[in-house]
Amino acid sequence: MAGTLSEKFELIIGGRETPGSLGERRTLLDPATNRPLAEAAVASRDDARAAMEAADRAYQESNWASDDGARRVRALGRLATLLESDLERFARLETLNMGKPLRESRADIAYVVRTLEYFAGLADKVEGETIPVPGPRFDYTLREPLGVTVHIAPWNYPLLLSIRSVAPALAAGNAVVLKPASLTPLTAIAFGRLAKTAGVPDGILNIVPGNGGEVGEALVDDPRCRSVTFTGSGDVGRRIAELAARRFVPLTLELGGKGPAIVFPDADLERAAKGVGYGIFGNAGQMCWAASRLFVHESIREPFVDKVRAIANGLRLGPGTEDGVEMGPLVSRDQAERVLEYVEEARSRGGHVVAGGARVTDPPLAEGNFVRPTVLTDVPAESRAVREEIFGPVLSVASFADVEDAVRQANDTTYGLLGTVWTRDLGTAHTVARRLETGMVVVNEAPTTYPQTPFAGAKSSGLGFEQGARAIETFTRTKNVVLNLGAPKKRG
Ligand code: NAD
Repeated sequence: MAGTLSEKFELIIGGRETPGSLGERRTLLDPATNRPLAEAAVASRDDARAAMEAADRAYQESNWASDDGARRVRALGRLATLLESDLERFARLETLNMGKPLRESRADIAYVVRTLEYFAGLADKVEGETIPVPGPRFDYTLREPLGVTVHIAPWNYPLLLSIRSVAPALAAGNAVVLKPASLTPLTAIAFGRLAKTAGVPDGILNIVPGNGGEVGEALVDDPRCRSVTFTGSGDVGRRIAELAARRFVPLTLELGGKGPAIVFPDADLERAAKGVGYGIFGNAGQMCWAASRLFVHESIREPFVDKVRAIANGLRLGPGTEDGVEMGPLVSRDQAERVLEYVEEARSRGGHVVAGGARVTDPPLAEGNFVRPTVLTDVPAESRAVREEIFGPVLSVASFADVEDAVRQANDTTYGLLGTVWTRDLGTAHTVARRLETGMVVVNEAPTTYPQTPFAGAKSSGLGFEQGARAIETFTRTKNVVLNLGAPKKRG
């Protein structure tokens, strides 16, 4: 069945676009309507192997890794420029495929541009050091690329979360095999084409969307795989960690979250309510770092919840491509159903749905995967809706008595990605920031990150980190060289 996009979306292996060894295609649906959008090639295990082979050959044969980095600086810089001039097309493609409002897709693509610029700037600064050692010796270290690196991405920020690790891997001189999520491969494929135009050598960036259990596992299990970066769910992360452990392959895991938003009574409550709203209803809540548990001081609970509820009820839902839309559909029907199951579970345990809590049933949105922005109160702390990552626009509310109580409740989760704190008191902000068991904390703002700052999860939210200058270390290994210079010559 043909979709509304007539463009062909193929695998990219060794610089060539190919339908893959089996010629299998997947019909992608527009999440706003569930009508066919496009058809994209689906990789097989053989295609995964071919991509690893192509990457390995390009790594060995091109000078991508071996020159002084100038080539990588230029190629990544050009890629940033090309992407920036094509931002609108990429943003549209992301929105059509994934559903988020165009405004958010534009910000995502702009973020990818900045990520490329940032790592382009580091590509010729991959440096070793010299170390004093005894005797007539000279000791130095080299930072060398790893070889072929594998990157497996989720569907919630399709291009952004792919390139977040691909950019430093390329900057450090590796050859990359990227597996985007099977639901959302379109922008990654379009990006692969742009990389060729920008001068990234054939085979240095390979793109093989496909089934995770088949293609993803084949990539991780391949003997040429020297590093894995996985962004996705904890269960799949555990499976990948097991596979990687068999061959001691280094691994970065960016997993789920159940972030707290802690609101103190001295905060700017208007701003806080907007930030709390954005922290859970942005991207229709499909964010690993969503602030999905609101803890509000007991003295301001009622008025604050009223503000958040008004925001939830006031958001304009619609297809992401429509002007003025503030929240799009969820990525798939399954995802919408999963989210509503959590709401039902909370309700069955005595929780109150004070906003949303249902699908949109009025035409024309009824055809799409729209779930109303939802606020739950009085849900027992042990309910699944409070403990598990919902990955949808569902906020649960609890109150706290003091700093101690807020920190205890916020940390009462297996996750530890990002916490937000709202207060005007620097001491309170700093105390809570120190005591949250999370990889990131944001004060007086909705979840925020930059290509130059580490993106890290604590507890079961992940292993390692992405972004920041030190991300280059993730994709290089240190080699130590001792040079014995021989006995010093005796002076005349
Ligand atoms: P997912 O784990 O189902 O899939 C992620 C990727 O892994 C996809 O490309 C999928 O095809 C692939 N995959 C699935 N099974 C595999 C296997 N056995 N071996 C190898 N690869 C496999 O996750 P999702 O549903 O796409 O994304 C949602 C999850 O991602 C949420 O839990 C969310 O919190 C998490 N996430 C984390 C971050 C972060 O930075 N910490 C960012 C975004 C999303």
